[in-house]
Amino acid sequence: MGWLGLDDTDHLGGGCTTKTLDLLIQGLPSDVEIGELRLVRLWPFAKQRTRGNASVAVEISCEDENKIMNHLDLWWEENISPLAGMISSTENYDRQQYPADPGMVWFSSETPPVEFYYSAVRREVSLDEIPIAKKSWGGQGKIGATAAIAWDKSLVTYEAIAWRTETNTSSKKIRKIDSLRLEEIDEMENTFMSRDSRTGNSMIAPRGPCPVLFGLRARDEEIAKQAATYLLKSESTEENSGFRVFKTNQASDDHLENDLRDTVLDIEILSRGTVVINCKNSKLLAFSESGDIKLLGQWLKHGDTISFNGLKNHDGTYHLERLKVIEGSNQKVRPLCAKCGVRMKSMGKNQGVRCPKCRDRSDKLWDEITRTPPFEDWVQAPNDSRRHLTRPLEWD
Ligand SMILES: [Zn+2]
Repeated sequence: MGWLGLDDTDHLGGGCTTKTLDLLIQGLPSDVEIGELRLVRLWPFAKQRTRGNASVAVEISCEDENKIMNHLDLWWEENISPLAGMISSTENYDRQQYPADPGMVWFSSETPPVEFYYSAVRREVSLDEIPIAKKSWGGQGKIGATAAIAWDKSLVTYEAIAWRTETNTSSKKIRKIDSLRLEEIDEMENTFMSRDSRTGNSMIAPRGPCPVLFGLRARDEEIAKQAATYLLKSESTEENSGFRVFKTNQASDDHLENDLRDTVLDIEILSRGTVVINCKNSKLLAFSESGDIKLLGQWLKHGDTISFNGLKNHDGTYHLERLKVIEGSNQKVRPLCAKCGVRMKSMGKNQGVRCPKCRDRSDKLWDEITRTPPFEDWVQAPNDSRRHLTRPLEWD
């Protein structure tokens, strides 16, 4: 018995590591048994990440390990190794593309240490850091492949991935999925991220040329299976070439360390409402798509104490994934007139303040009032702008 990991077989122009694994499983000798399947998302800022930055692994039981290794050698040569070097150029993509560099690893008696998984989900990892597998094939993809096997499943969710037929994949037709059934599925208790919470648009189908028809996320394995079957059986859903349910680290927050606390120095509001929050110890970014995080960020002022979490990018700036005001700094306002209840006004520099109505004066120049934030608790981005790894706040 052992674990096979696989990664980096896709590129922007097509392919998908889940499909590569599905075909590999279908091609296994008949006396081999398949156990758990994993889909593991890794550090979202990794330089050579693939489109979805997900790697896969499968548990394999077999009588004769050598026989499986020989089979995998052949399968690698014929089906996976040729995917290396595939790259697509698109003008609408803002980061450098790396050609696919597939990697596959086999661990039998000893699995890689869990520390390696946390490195790969939280920072840049290089090939020379990976624990030695019993057998390995290929290049860069060995990192994700190993991390998928090292995953400790601290929080498990499920994704049922269904694939298109070959004809549909190559025809580039828009994916056809029963939207009424999807609406029902979205309302089921243990599914998540099925539809955009604001527009109701489907969030289960990828766009562009890739063999995945949809990926349905759930917190329960049986629900994932049932929901996928229900969608696929509909006449309003296009033909498919099967589905499999993967255990995943999606929505686990595994990519984040502990929440941090800091004091705001000032904020800058950029185009489309994006906010840069300069704090004593760190610099934070709330993007325009981040909804309530952006709104709360825009409200902040010098002296506010906040708690936050997010990923640090290559220049050390945090991209906020959640934000909370611990204590708003006070705001200085002119005192209210004791008689009229109207706010007093300054009469000029060093001239004191007086009531604009009854003209009474006050010795006290300022009152301090507590600013109340627009959101008292944690906020996060709307579900269509969250990372796959981000845990929804409503689960706490
Ligand atoms: Zn007055």
